Amino acid sequence: MSHTHTYEELARKNKQYLWHPFTQMKDYVAEDPLIIARGEGIKLIDVNGKAYYDGFSSVWLNVHGHNVPELNRAIVEQLEQVAHSTLLGMANVPSILLAEQLVRIAPDGLTKVFYSDSGATAVEIALKMAFQYWQNIGVTGKRSFITMNNAYHGDTIGAVSVGAIPLYHEVYRPLLFSSYTIPYPYPYRHEGERSAAEETLACLERLLDEKADEIAALIVEPIVQGASGMIIMPDGCLKQMADMARAYGVLLIADEVATGFGRTGRMFACEHEGVTPDIMAVAKGITGGYLPVAATLTTDRVYDAFYADYEEQKTFFHGHSYTGNPLGCAVALANLRLLEERRIVEGVAEKSRRLAKLLAPLSDFAHVGEVRQKGFMVGIELVRDKQTKEPYHWDERIGVRVCRRARENGLLTRPLGNVVVLIPPLVSTEDELAEMVGILAESIEDVTAAAAVKGA
Ligand SMILES: *Cc1c(COP(=O)(O)O)cnc(C)c1O
Repeated sequence: MSHTHTYEELARKNKQYLWHPFTQMKDYVAEDPLIIARGEGIKLIDVNGKAYYDGFSSVWLNVHGHNVPELNRAIVEQLEQVAHSTLLGMANVPSILLAEQLVRIAPDGLTKVFYSDSGATAVEIALKMAFQYWQNIGVTGKRSFITMNNAYHGDTIGAVSVGAIPLYHEVYRPLLFSSYTIPYPYPYRHEGERSAAEETLACLERLLDEKADEIAALIVEPIVQGASGMIIMPDGCLKQMADMARAYGVLLIADEVATGFGRTGRMFACEHEGVTPDIMAVAKGITGGYLPVAATLTTDRVYDAFYADYEEQKTFFHGHSYTGNPLGCAVALANLRLLEERRIVEGVAEKSRRLAKLLAPLSDFAHVGEVRQKGFMVGIELVRDKQTKEPYHWDERIGVRVCRRARENGLLTRPLGNVVVLIPPLVSTEDELAEMVGILAESIEDVTAAAAVKGA
């Protein structure tokens, strides 16, 4: 449709009518907006015809690239049957078949699927499910949650209550339920006698020792804490946290919204350490980046606590209008089929070794503090001073400037503060990865060199 509208007209209407997420609109309206018209493979093409690598998978979603014939067809075929019908008290075909597939590929022991439509709602459901689980079995004192420093679990009020990124979450504090917070291990910036992981485990143990009777669940971004800057857990830490939670009778909620469906080189990040959480939230990659579907998976143990005579009032009273949407479930099914047929997850594990080699030279850059990578999740932390690890001041917006330069050079991504991310679609080839890393490297060098001259 865009061919009937000029760029100027769309840009004007964009500024007049749209309010963008996580965007200071005063900055947005001051610039020429990027308006995407279509996608082709791992590139997005704007209304002026300029092509860009989708270097952040359209905010960490994309798996097989854009405009994939098999995924398009799955939607069209379902559309010719029915676009939507509810899961409240009835079912539809793709929602059943997708639940079966999710249980098949999930860590052993996760046997039930509860749908929703975003990562935040999948987390919201996980929290309510964990809370009500204890109420339903008569352990009424377990009402609190443990989260981790700088955690991000989505933007609804419950998810924000277990969020811990001050810039995003602090303003809402009066609206939130309070949670306990333990440190996420962050070796690059860790100080002290104990290692970062030891510190995390010691804090968790102390808290559980004192408060396990009050705590319903521990919620974790397994292996990679995404929005805080792609922080990677030291090996073994997740497994020990899981064992500790179990020993103290606290449920483990794994937020696999960012890490699920092959992103880290395993189908789910929990698999790196053989962990089965009690509840697992998934979204982002579930439909290959096509439609908003999310799911909260759980065990027979949790499910059975809700399974009772109606009069006992143990029903899980939660649902959304589009829960189990057939179009979304159909494309998710096609996504999972392609993931297996094309051995995408194995491909990520293999190609990520090549990606590590491509990224290695960046560690020597004057203003790169650390390059972190797990599979196809990469964070490059920029620092003003490499020796002292002094960060850039937030209002220098170094990450924003690097990403703006990358966009001029044909690569789309978004920073997380001073961390520049690269989260390529999982089908990206080694040549494409090399080109993307090349653009990022050049953009980082240009912008940090200019900032150094200006700052001197
Ligand atoms: C993106 C994300 C969410 C929120 O997902 P939405 O679909 O944006 O609501 C939750 N948890 C993690 C770890 C995420 O990365």
